[in-house]
Amino acid sequence: MPLKRGIGVSAGVVIGDAVVLDTEETRVPRRTVPPDEVPHEIDLVNRAFEAARTEIGPERAALAARAGNELADIFGFHERWLADPKPRKEISQLIESRLYSAAYAISVFMRKYRRRFQEMNSPYLQERAKDVLDIERRLLHHVGGEVRSELAELEQPVIIVAHDMTPTQLVMLEKTKRVLGFATDAGGSTSHTAILAAGLGIPAVVGLEDITAHVSSGDTLVIDGLHGVVVINPDPAQRAEYDTQMAHLIEVRATLDELRDVAAETRDGTKIELLGNIEFPYEIAACLEKGATGIGLFRTEFLFLQDGPMPDEDAQYEVYKAAVVAVGGRPLVIRTMDLGGDKLHAGGAWEAEKNPFLGLRSIRYSLQNLSMFRAQLRAIVRASSLGDIRVMFPLISRIMELRQAKFVLNLVMEELEESGYEFRSSIPVGVMIETPAAAICARELAQECAFMSIGTNDLIQYTLAVDRGNERVAQLYTPADPSIIRLIRGVVRDAARGGASVSLCGEMAGDPIFTILLVGLGLRTLSMSASHVPVIKKIIRSITMADAERVKRRVLSFETEREVLNYLRDETRKVWGDI
Ligand code: PEP
Ligand code: MG
Repeated sequence: MPLKRGIGVSAGVVIGDAVVLDTEETRVPRRTVPPDEVPHEIDLVNRAFEAARTEIGPERAALAARAGNELADIFGFHERWLADPKPRKEISQLIESRLYSAAYAISVFMRKYRRRFQEMNSPYLQERAKDVLDIERRLLHHVGGEVRSELAELEQPVIIVAHDMTPTQLVMLEKTKRVLGFATDAGGSTSHTAILAAGLGIPAVVGLEDITAHVSSGDTLVIDGLHGVVVINPDPAQRAEYDTQMAHLIEVRATLDELRDVAAETRDGTKIELLGNIEFPYEIAACLEKGATGIGLFRTEFLFLQDGPMPDEDAQYEVYKAAVVAVGGRPLVIRTMDLGGDKLHAGGAWEAEKNPFLGLRSIRYSLQNLSMFRAQLRAIVRASSLGDIRVMFPLISRIMELRQAKFVLNLVMEELEESGYEFRSSIPVGVMIETPAAAICARELAQECAFMSIGTNDLIQYTLAVDRGNERVAQLYTPADPSIIRLIRGVVRDAARGGASVSLCGEMAGDPIFTILLVGLGLRTLSMSASHVPVIKKIIRSITMADAERVKRRVLSFETEREVLNYLRDETRKVWGDI
């Protein structure tokens, strides 16, 4: 039966009937009013803004109680926007000058506003278009516009199929307990909807491109959020297979929950440190809850991709302080901003580049924008007095970059010392190994830093020359390629020779298929998203070092990615069934 692949954003499998939502769920007819009704329409707009603002408070509180404050802060953008007098003024002007009805003026203004976000360069800001749509729906509801909501009419639990979905829609749906899962054409891993789905435990697949064109309401769907797969009208065999998988997942979760407080160590006592990857400090709680023993990758560039002014030194200090307090004495690896490529901050003057991933990205950007870089390093160093902060430089591809970055760091420390700031003078400095150049010269880099973290997400794209974000070559992008495995082996060996510790923080670290191999290759620290920690711990606790050694030797003898994958799948199954 047809099978569609997208991005799984929430681990879980579910089977159910589909309800396909219209692309434009809201319809507002063009309507004008006589001039004497203008004040009434403007009054309607003002009251709609107030009502929308007041209703968000309790919704936010209810979500905070269910899923935590930080997740509920997603509604912060809505609250701030509704409190701003400018949009109301512009909508009122549309009513006065063109005699539009309140509903129509709102929809005209919001559409224009939404388009501005959609056209922005940053995927993060593009995602905000969904929040704007969300606000539009709220306002229209309050002015009594002709809003038709298929969602409100749901009678039994279903799988929602839509072009896209807003955070509010998802929260509303979740409240009705009628949503088994969802699948959308649009969306990516940075979307608030994806973050919410994961937080609320709703199986979902996004970024399917055209799922709405292939599914009709009433079709039966399998949503496999674990593998990012949607099966349309599964045949009896597929259904049975997924039924088994679902039952298995429930059992697995129960077993994994019991592991939170036990060490990640092999059966013969080798300890592996499992750390968390985060984009914002609020994710630290989830990492610790899942059993991570610290944070191995804090992707600070996300602080620069949010709306509002760019965070200055003091604003960043507050963020790093909050993070180090939340980690509570455990290690916190702060990666300096990895801007450029597909991560462009809204306030920056970016010149279009033909190959942005080979352009002014990451440490190169930082070294050419020294005032920003220094402000960030000052904030990190100041926060270092509060705990075990470590600094990591991204995309180092030659030793001079490391030297220059360390030079700036030392300069910043001298300045701070002169100004009387307290900080930890021996902050460990590390580099990410994300390019073949860095992997090949890892020994030399290791001699000049305290730790190295292998960023396989980029290492794969640069080694195999496959854009990590291009779905047309996605089948060529794999950690199982022998070249990648050999590079990792070399880096681990050279890190030891050069005197640095080594970890791995790309997505590969959280993929259970590779755990035995990575341990066999000598990795003793792995950093991953919170949700992957329990399963990786389980695998580690199921193996011996002899298993890991044997698997490594065999994998290194293979010539193709297929052989590697088939073998690793079999070996993983042997130690812990079919995950
Ligand atoms: C990586 O490249 O593996 C990595 C962890 O960094 P990012 O995914 O943020 O590029
Ligand atoms: Mg990277």
